Parts: sequence; structure tokens; C-alpha cells
Amino acid sequence: MNPMANHRPSSMSVLTALSDALGEAVLCEPQQTEPFRRDYWVRSEIDEWRGSPLPNPMAVVTPTTTQQVASVVQICQEFGTPVITRGAGSGVVGGVLAQEDGIVLSTHKLITPSSIDKKNLLATFGAGTNGLEAEELVQDHGLTIGHWPQSIGVSSVGGWVATRASGQFSTAYGNIEDILYSLVAVLPDGSIYRSRETPRAAAGPDLRQLFLGSEGTLGVITEVTFSLRTQAPDQAKQAFHFDRFDDGLEAIRRIMAARWLPPVVRLYDPRESRRNFAESVPKGRSVLIFLHEGPPGSAQLESAAIATTCANLGGVLTESTAVEHWFEHRNTVPTWTELFEQGLLVDTIEVATKWSNLSGLYRGVVEAVSAIPSVISMTAHSSHAYRSGANLYFTAVAAPPEGADYTEIYDQIWDAAMTAADSLGAGLAHHHGIGRVRRTWLNSELGESGSQLLSAIKAALDPKGLFNPGVLMEPTQL
Ligand SMILES: Cc1cc2nc3c(=O)[nH]c(=O)nc-3n(C[C@H](O)[C@H](O)[C@H](O)COP(=O)(O)OP(=O)(O)OC[C@H]3O[C@@H](n4cnc5c(N)ncnc54)[C@H](O)[C@@H]3O)c2cc1C
Repeated sequence: MNPMANHRPSSMSVLTALSDALGEAVLCEPQQTEPFRRDYWVRSEIDEWRGSPLPNPMAVVTPTTTQQVASVVQICQEFGTPVITRGAGSGVVGGVLAQEDGIVLSTHKLITPSSIDKKNLLATFGAGTNGLEAEELVQDHGLTIGHWPQSIGVSSVGGWVATRASGQFSTAYGNIEDILYSLVAVLPDGSIYRSRETPRAAAGPDLRQLFLGSEGTLGVITEVTFSLRTQAPDQAKQAFHFDRFDDGLEAIRRIMAARWLPPVVRLYDPRESRRNFAESVPKGRSVLIFLHEGPPGSAQLESAAIATTCANLGGVLTESTAVEHWFEHRNTVPTWTELFEQGLLVDTIEVATKWSNLSGLYRGVVEAVSAIPSVISMTAHSSHAYRSGANLYFTAVAAPPEGADYTEIYDQIWDAAMTAADSLGAGLAHHHGIGRVRRTWLNSELGESGSQLLSAIKAALDPKGLFNPGVLMEPTQL
């Protein structure tokens, strides 16, 4: 059967050109294109669950080299065909949504080069490389990327960069922007940008930043080089529980101000503590867990100093099983549909703010979302700490009544959370990105001139608006 038989004449010429250039790397059969229609966004999954599936893309293209990506991009430019770049599809904000008149450029076969430079502590990967496979490869050499998103096993290294991801060890090792050393990207006109490999440059604006958080709107990242760390010889774990969430926040603030840098610092509010650590911690307490790592002797030194800080704020040392429990479950990936089947709607929303604002932000967002009638729980933890503030990662759970519109409730939750966070001066997206779910809030985050600047950059690089239309910016902002 001719794979292009079902396509309209207008799409035939672009499909023919793509097939001529890439042969079998162009997939057109519905059963081939269907798995690439979307990412992990709850709202898309609601649509599928309710039987209103999203459209299949015109084709899925699976290039294996930067040069092939450039050819795909040039062909799509020529025919005015939208390009939706997809990594591993673990994004949770609607950054990947196929459209019938566009192609999905999947990076899952873009897995070369793959090299480790032990002398300079660098590793280079094709953008589609699975995150866990990349980490395991460097670990075989006694090294680590140090980037552990919960989704490490279901995300790609290029996706990490494109979404400005954060790993669970970020407090010491930084977020992806601190780990990225250099990159290669195909720009919307098909030209190839390669950043110079140097530990630092005072050579004008850092152009790598254009791609960090670009979410497929400014081109396709094809290769990334990360700056590695040697694996720490020393490690310690400990956990405390506090009377109040605010006491735990104050402990973290003091620890950061005192210049201690545990890779893992996670504080749970009383309800999340109960949910996760019921066996080791009394009801109503806030659990704070730490992982310490470093050169010989450093983990013990750091854990002792931090224990004193926690004790001074009423923190009670608890079984280290609390930390072990977190380690065991830290890369679990939930299935939204299973929750829908149980009559539950769940999503997570992460924001950030400075220390003086954190308590107010926590209370403001919990209060705003809890006021929605079907919301049965709004909880939070803080998992990424900085000298001047921290993130808050909220989990909203709703139990929609029989016959209720899940999408409407979903939108109400996001609207309430974003409105409250915005009015309290928070940074509106700590690490999941903007995608579609936060698109209308990006103007508040960037301000009027910031939004105009971003639109101008987009218009200059992608004047036809072909790269991931509808993500980050409203299509009309071009
Ligand atoms: C259970 C779960 C846990 C998660 N935990 C974390 C976490 O701890 N920390 C965190 O930061 N995120 C987390 N996420 C979100 C998600 O895993 C990250 O955003 C991840 O970086 C996305 O990578 P991906 O390869 O799956 O990208 P995709 O979902 O495929 O794409 C995400 C966006 O990036 C663009 N994109 C992808 N690859 C490229 C490329 N090569 N060039 C240009 N654009 C590209 C896409 O167009 C899209 O806009 C989690 C998600 C889930 C489902």
C-alpha cells in the first residue's frame, strides 16, 4: 500500500520531497504516526480518555544526523510545513501536539555522536539520547552528568535543554543550564549553529541561552555536550521532621546562607509528608530530607552542620529510611488515565520565589486552588534551593463529580494557581516550561518589553511561524 495514499494533494509534494531526501525515515501510516501525537500533558490525556483523540501528524520524520535534520527543515521551509520537534514526549505542559498539516520531527534516532572526554570532563550526545542511558554511560567511567529529573528514564537529553529542566540533585549540581557546555542546533532556515567549546566566553550574549527553554520554537537541538563531575566518594543521608512547613523553609534558607550545598534538599508540607513517610514520621509534621555528597570527609562535615541548624529550629532527626524510601520511588512515572479511572484528576504545578515570599506563596496558592469545589487536596514540597529562594512544587487533586467536565476543572486549577502565584510576585514556571498550559501567563512573567523582545527574536528566526506553533507564544504574537 502506498503510505501517502491517504494524504491530500497539498501535503503530497512535501511528503514526496521528504521521502526523496530521507527514504524510510518518513513514517506516514496512522499506526506509525499515532504514538507521536502528543507529550505527557494531562489535558491531552483527558481528551484521549474521553474519546476525542488528537489528530495524527501528516508524517513523523526520524532523522539520524544533524545534516538530515537540516534537510528536513529546508524542505519544510520550502513548503511552509509546520515542524513539531519531539524528544521522548515526557513534557507535561503541552509542548508536543501534532497537527494534521505539520510533521513531527522525532529525535529518537538522533543518538550520535556519543563520546566521553575524561580529561576535560565532557560528554557529547545526540539530542535524542535517553537521559538514563546517557547517565549510565558516563557512570561506567566513574563520572556523572548530575542531572536527575524524575523522568530521567523517559526523557531525552535534547528535551532537557529545550525545556530548561531541573534534576533532583540541582541544589549542588545546578540545573541543565549550568550543566550544558555546548550545543548544535539547526535553525529554522536550515543553517547549523554550533556553539564554541570553551569553559567560558565574554563574547557577547550567550547564544546557547536562545535554545535553553526554546521548546522547539527556535529550531532543533541536534547535539549537546555536558560538563561532567567525578562521582562523589563520600555520601551521607539524613532526614528531620518539623512542627511547621515554615520552620523547614527557614532551615533551608539558613543552610544555603551558610554555604552548605547538599545535592538533594526536599521539604514536604504535612499532607505530603503523611502521604510519603507515614511509617517513619508522626502525623502533622513536615519532613525535610538531605543527600550529602562530596570529596572524602565533606559529607560528614556537612551533615553534622546541617543537623545543628535543623535542631536549632526544632527539627527532629528521623529514621534514614525516609530518605531510602524517597530514593526507591524517585523515578516512578504515574499514569494519568489510571487516576481518571479512579475518578481523580491530578496535576503538578511548579513555581519559585525568594525566601521572604515563600510562605505567603505556599499559603496563597493552596488557598486559591482549594477553593475550587471539586479539589480535594492541594499540597506542596520544595525540592530546589538557591541562595536567594527556592521552588514550590504543588500537587492538585480533584475528584470531579459524576458527569463533570474534567477539562474545565483542569483549567480552573491552573488559572487559580497561576493567578495567585502571579499576584504574589512568583516566578511562574520553575522547570516544566511554558508549553501551551502557561502560554497566556508568559507575558506576565516577561513583562511587556520582554514579550516584545521574545516575539522579535521568534519573528527574526522563524518569520513564517513554522516551528512548534502555539507553544510559548500565542500564534498571533508573531
Ligand atoms: C513523571 C514525570 C516526571 C518529571 N520530572 C521532571 C523533573 O524532575 N524535572 C524536570 O525538569 N522535568 C520533569 N518532567 C518533565 C519532562 O520530563 C521534561 O520537561 C523533559 O526535559 C522533557 O524531555 P523530552 O525529551 O521528553 O521532551 P518532549 O516532551 O518530547 O518535548 C518537550 C519540549 O521540548 C521540545 N524539544 C524536545 N526535544 C527538542 C530538541 N531536540 N530540539 C528542540 N526542541 C525540542 C519539544 O518541542 C517540546 O516543546 C517530568 C515529566 C514526567 C512525566
